[in-house]
Amino acid sequence: MAARRLSSLFSRSLTSGSASKLLSQGRTVSRFSTAAATEKLITPSVDIEYTRLLINGHFVDSASGKTFPTYDPRTGEVIAHVAEGDAEDVNRAVAAARKAFDEGPWPKMSAYERSRILLRFADLVEKHSEELAALETWNNGKPFEQAAKAELPMFARLFHYYAGWADKIHGLTVPADGPYHVHTLHEPIGVAGQIIPWNFPLLMFAWKVGPALACGNTIVLKTAEQTPLTALYVARLFQEAGLPPGVLNIVSGYGPTAGAALASHMDVDKIAFTGSTDTGKIILEMAAKSNLKPVTLELGGKSPFIICEDADIDQAVELAHFALFFNQGQCCCAGSRTYVHERVYDEFLEKAKARALKRTVGDPFKKGIEQGPQIDSEQFQKVLRYIKSGIESNATLECGGERFGSKGYFIQPTVFSNVQDDMLIAQDEIFGPVQSILKFKELDEVIRRANSTRYGLAAGVFTKNINTANTLTRALRAGTVWVNCFDVFDAAIPFGGYKMSGIGREKGIYSLHNYLQVKAVVTPLKNPAWL
Ligand code: ADP
Repeated sequence: MAARRLSSLFSRSLTSGSASKLLSQGRTVSRFSTAAATEKLITPSVDIEYTRLLINGHFVDSASGKTFPTYDPRTGEVIAHVAEGDAEDVNRAVAAARKAFDEGPWPKMSAYERSRILLRFADLVEKHSEELAALETWNNGKPFEQAAKAELPMFARLFHYYAGWADKIHGLTVPADGPYHVHTLHEPIGVAGQIIPWNFPLLMFAWKVGPALACGNTIVLKTAEQTPLTALYVARLFQEAGLPPGVLNIVSGYGPTAGAALASHMDVDKIAFTGSTDTGKIILEMAAKSNLKPVTLELGGKSPFIICEDADIDQAVELAHFALFFNQGQCCCAGSRTYVHERVYDEFLEKAKARALKRTVGDPFKKGIEQGPQIDSEQFQKVLRYIKSGIESNATLECGGERFGSKGYFIQPTVFSNVQDDMLIAQDEIFGPVQSILKFKELDEVIRRANSTRYGLAAGVFTKNINTANTLTRALRAGTVWVNCFDVFDAAIPFGGYKMSGIGREKGIYSLHNYLQVKAVVTPLKNPAWL
């Protein structure tokens, strides 16, 4: 598949959000209509069938019998009760994964057969992508069109991609000194523990499960407590595809209970985590204090998006808007510090504000909706607190700044200008629809400022000058630099962070390294005539 540009999938023309004016703190601020949010909500066209834990090939209740509610972020209402896994369930799941690894058949199966099961699974996902997209939107709040047209195809593509790798993983013959024959075996690590977040429940599942299975590992995966539903649905499709029992186990539950039990388990051989930097530190500590399992972490970000003076402003506005507002701003790599050259700053600002005011917010099941609700009340409140802090620190609120509607967790697309590097909104990961626009003058200056953050996940560069692009791509300390594009997430492109944005890379060939051990095999050569 050619590199999929999410932006091109969503850059259709949009209906204008009706904006009335109000005077706030002596500035003119545009306010969005709340009409869309009070309209009748669309009923999702999917049933919630799978709410129990998947252990050893069976959907089962939790050992305690406890359940927890999962919500529709459009309304904050409960949509299902899900089995709540805890340490005892993690123990059972790890035992099943251990058995499936040690006794087979998964790691002992031919790589070709493993590849075929992954391919069958990906095909089944394509067949059920409408239901899956509906379930993802219902539980997460992301626009249905985004889930159906971009995320589900990417999910299936990822499994097709790793199915392709399964039978192409092999070691090397090593030309060592002395009369020795030396080769390496690339072996699966064993039982992989995987903990995923709520912002892309299916894609985060794919980034972790795809490479782990391709390499022959078995898995215990914990979903985020906010979004447990789609992983259980696809687990059923894995069964249909012929995945043997115990190879993939899913424990729904909370972080400090089920997640901690997994990260500190003595019989888990590797842990992979995506989430906040604070939780990443806890995971690393638990891995160290238990059995020193290797850890990969994909954590927070505060990615700069740099618009140079030679940029096509209309394109830059659209891309910077997309880089920040995509997925309700709930992306670890969101372009959340928009640096604009002083010569084009005023024009950019005016157009960026106009674009934010046009953003269509409402029921994510409706056609043409670009922005749904934030995931839950906690995130919703957190984003509003950051907006307040931006106003209090004297950034200029250009538009938005308030709740959208009166139900659920919708927030108006918000733009701040005159943002300074030392403001909280320029330093912390807001994880919401809040664009911060900063002004710069010199290239060296913007490099220094863009890099002066504890994070290093991604960066965007917008310029027509190849020399400027080359300078910036080398100078920026980030795991991905997108030039004149953003959020290109092809299965083959590695993704991960510098600094406190993480350890290791996911996707592409790089992710295979996370799930393989290298064994050197050395045998003396007895006949020196044939060295
Ligand atoms: P966020 O703040 O965005 O929800 P988190 O890092 O808290 O991000 O959550 C990401 C994932 O980590 C979720 O699956 C969550 O349940 C899990 N998690 C949270 N706290 C812990 C913990 N102490 N130990 C293990 N997993 C955790």
